[in-house]
Amino acid sequence: MRILFAASEAYPLIKTGGLGDVAGSLPRALLELGQDVRLILPAYATVLGQLEAPRTLAEFSEAGQSVSVVEGQMPESPLKVWLVDAPGYFDRPGNPYLDSNGQPWADNAERFALFSRMVTRLALNQAGLDWAPDIVHCNDWQTGLAPALLDLATQRPATVFTIHNLAYQGLFPEDTFHKLGLPASWWSHHALEFHNQLSFIKGGLVFADRINTVSPTYAREIQTAEFGYGLEGLLRHRSAALSGILNGIDTREWDPASDPLLEHHYDLHDLSGKQANKQVLQSIMGLPDKPVTAVIGLISRLVSQKGIDLIIEAMPDLLKLPLQFSLLGSGDRDMETRLLKLAEQYPQKLAVRIGYDETLAHRIEAGADMYLMPSRFEPCGLNQMYSLHYGTVPIVRNVGGLADTVVDTSAKTLAESRANGFIIDSDDSSALIKAVKRALRRFRDKAQWQQLQLTGMQADFSWQHSARKYLSLYLQAQHDNRKSLPDPG
Ligand code: ADP
Repeated sequence: MRILFAASEAYPLIKTGGLGDVAGSLPRALLELGQDVRLILPAYATVLGQLEAPRTLAEFSEAGQSVSVVEGQMPESPLKVWLVDAPGYFDRPGNPYLDSNGQPWADNAERFALFSRMVTRLALNQAGLDWAPDIVHCNDWQTGLAPALLDLATQRPATVFTIHNLAYQGLFPEDTFHKLGLPASWWSHHALEFHNQLSFIKGGLVFADRINTVSPTYAREIQTAEFGYGLEGLLRHRSAALSGILNGIDTREWDPASDPLLEHHYDLHDLSGKQANKQVLQSIMGLPDKPVTAVIGLISRLVSQKGIDLIIEAMPDLLKLPLQFSLLGSGDRDMETRLLKLAEQYPQKLAVRIGYDETLAHRIEAGADMYLMPSRFEPCGLNQMYSLHYGTVPIVRNVGGLADTVVDTSAKTLAESRANGFIIDSDDSSALIKAVKRALRRFRDKAQWQQLQLTGMQADFSWQHSARKYLSLYLQAQHDNRKSLPDPG
């Protein structure tokens, strides 16, 4: 199959969150399954210089901008990448979506509309590149207009739209809709209008042949008012075309047996390196060297989605327990300040690093005994899977991908060898404290704890597994495509 995979970020070129991990891994896994894949991204300032063997394939004028398509290779991978190089829109420093004040770039609608137009042009083989995909796989609101624009064609490839986080929808005022010159008929709640605003994500939700999200539970949750942000009616209407596929983890980057960012390696058969990593972690975080005290790790965007406010609320009580915390994150300024203040008050038990630090993230996963993730909603979540793979027992809310990957510890699940973590059963700080206490009680029984670790480490979260499910989804999308291309045979 020829697959055009469109996203606004992809690791290692550029990443702000889980979407970047997926777009860095899934296209490679598809390539390894023998598919012909192109990853298409905007050419942000920092991205162009990282591509191997870049060359300009085509040049255009699109929406008043001069745009070229640059082809190159993903570093250390045979994956072909196409960059949409529109310097007026993408050649600027910093975050792909936010300016230096943390506000969305004022021209985000124009930027990602242009990106979607270029995806459409390339998908329809209208750029003179002599490559026509069978599938266009779009991801999140930044690519949402592409399935809609493609649907204007009389014949087109099949389209798949993946929701990585429904909280981000690409909403803009009505006059932006007119400025972008989109078909007038799309100003309707049957198309791109959402309560008098232009919704980019609706382009994917309304027009794609198949919609999916990144866990089976989240696929069900977003059809309810609690998680649907007002889009639950539309998603229920499209439920026959909606499914969930759990993300994989990139075991080239995240494997305790070979992780280059770790000082000590370990695996299922010998966990002793984990204890050595714990000592390293305590030392770099400035925590007392206490081999038998449980260390709880957390690496996160500091936002209310991740339940960070619940952790802050629970912290004075949690810090009375025999444990240490190693936290890494950035985001909400108020949460950052409150965490730093708590760390100053309790230096023996709580260490906080504000910022983005890939190396420290790996060291926390390897060195911690437990991982805390009390998210209010979690489309898939990667860190609980990294944790399971690293023998770091997760303590999580029973939502979205967390519910699909973590099995609560009870006498029954232990007997069935399914237990691999602890579930926080409601959205409040007392439930969080209760779950941490349960984990600490089990932690005292070394044999039982090791069973939890090994059950987690044995699970298969490889991308190969997920990529096969995407191939079936692509076949379903082709089957559902009302405007399929004629069979060349
Ligand atoms: P989301 O995409 O909602 O932020 P995920 O769990 O799906 O959450 O993915 C988050 C990814 O970003 C993980 O790979 C996590 O390790 C990484 N990450 C988040 N914050 C930091 C940070 N401060 N430093 C390093 N890595 C981080």
